[in-house]
Amino acid sequence: MMKVYVIGAGLAGAEAAFTAARMGAQVRLFEMRPQRMTPAHQTPHFAELVCSNSLGGEGETNAKGLLQAEMRAAGSLIMQAAERHRIPAGGALAVEREGFSLAITRALEGHPQIEVVRQEVLELPPDGVTVLATGPLTSDALSEHLRSLLGEEFLGFYDAAAPVVLGESIDLEVAYRAGRYGQSADYLNCPMTEEEYRRFYEVLTQARQHTPHDWEKLEFFEGCMPIEEIARRGYDTPRFGPLKPVGLPDPRTGQEPYAVVQLRAEDRRGQMWSLVGFQTGLKWGDQKNVVQSIPGLEKAEIVRYGVMHRNTYLCAPRLIKPTLQFREHPNLLVAGVLCGVEGYLESAATGFLAGLNAARLALGDEPLVPPEESMLGGLVRYLASANPDNFQPMNANWGLVPAEGGKGKKAEKRARMFRRGLQHFQGWLADFSAGVEEGLLSSEEIPVGSG
Ligand SMILES: Cc1cc2nc3c(=O)[nH]c(=O)nc-3n(C[C@H](O)[C@H](O)[C@H](O)COP(=O)(O)OP(=O)(O)OC[C@H]3O[C@@H](n4cnc5c(N)ncnc54)[C@H](O)[C@@H]3O)c2cc1C
Repeated sequence: MMKVYVIGAGLAGAEAAFTAARMGAQVRLFEMRPQRMTPAHQTPHFAELVCSNSLGGEGETNAKGLLQAEMRAAGSLIMQAAERHRIPAGGALAVEREGFSLAITRALEGHPQIEVVRQEVLELPPDGVTVLATGPLTSDALSEHLRSLLGEEFLGFYDAAAPVVLGESIDLEVAYRAGRYGQSADYLNCPMTEEEYRRFYEVLTQARQHTPHDWEKLEFFEGCMPIEEIARRGYDTPRFGPLKPVGLPDPRTGQEPYAVVQLRAEDRRGQMWSLVGFQTGLKWGDQKNVVQSIPGLEKAEIVRYGVMHRNTYLCAPRLIKPTLQFREHPNLLVAGVLCGVEGYLESAATGFLAGLNAARLALGDEPLVPPEESMLGGLVRYLASANPDNFQPMNANWGLVPAEGGKGKKAEKRARMFRRGLQHFQGWLADFSAGVEEGLLSSEEIPVGSG
């Protein structure tokens, strides 16, 4: 049996190592802290939560709630530690961070099939099956190595993401389909009159910016200037930049509007749409006001907010399969922020799948992909199939799984999607865990420690 190497013991690596070991693999887990710290981590513990202490909203109408439920069903270490160390936080799963990460550290350090090596990895191991989970702050030496292995253009070092809205929340009585100068009508266009543009400009220039940590600050390239910065340069600057109406006549009037916000599909089903040229570092509440001040987006549901910050992630659609294996290097898998997801929970969930598939490869079995109705299945399919030309990291949201048709209020449809997703996911778990000696569905208590 080949050995499984997991590099990085953050949210993704911790879950990957635990899952691979549970599936019967021998695991070597590398973590560079405390020998070498990142600019954000403060402790030597595994799965340290570097900022907020929340793993997202719970409940049947919440996309993160579905991912949490799937992780619980899969026997996730992160979820067990979270339950053990949860603190009251309204409708969210928040944890006492020190106890949470100490519990995970103890569970992994004490695991008979896991050997922990506290050392910075400079290059990928030459043999075995490897899960790469070094996160948004991958060390410089390893980043260099990855660049030379995968190609310069496949490793991004900052997020310059525009907000993404749910297709069903766009008012199609207002937004029209068209491509500039009559090119293929792949875009949705939100037209503005002069008065609407004036109001939009006012909301945009009054919106507050998120304050980044010093080490997070970016030098903006002209090509990915935040929309608020473009607006600061002059009243008409957005109208001659990303909001340019030229070549986009409104088919209902035959006239070019005063300004146009274009939206481009983010997924094949057209369930998620991003605002073109709208990368932004605005605070989320203010960002929502700006987006909803655009005609046609008054009721837009934002499924991923725009961000501008330092990050390290791969151009997943060019490199990986939904199994989280590299297409060109099948014994190399990737999980966490590095594979193009955003968020603690999403990182841990991809860690689960990468750990599972790494163990299967080591044991000579075929790697697996969760069903498309599940949130994890939707997320990994998105990573492998999104538009590679403007790929930006993604979090759990309802646009990733097939929409639920039929009648009913939004909350009822979401609850149906929740139950459908969890049922498919549980069926999938039951199928493959049959025959595995220590099945993932085993209800046995995993010693996560009391913190
Ligand atoms: C400053 C900051 C704040 C964030 N805030 C939030 C938030 O509030 N909520 C949220 O959901 N998400 C947040 N994120 C995004 C993301 O969810 C977290 O970064 C999450 O921890 C990612 O999990 P990961 O496993 O991919 O990476 P990490 O948890 O960072 O784990 C990667 C691990 O790899 C180790 N490592 C790196 N290089 C090497 C190497 N060469 N050899 C060995 N070990 C190595 C690191 O020390 C680290 O322990 C934040 C990200 C950053 C950078």
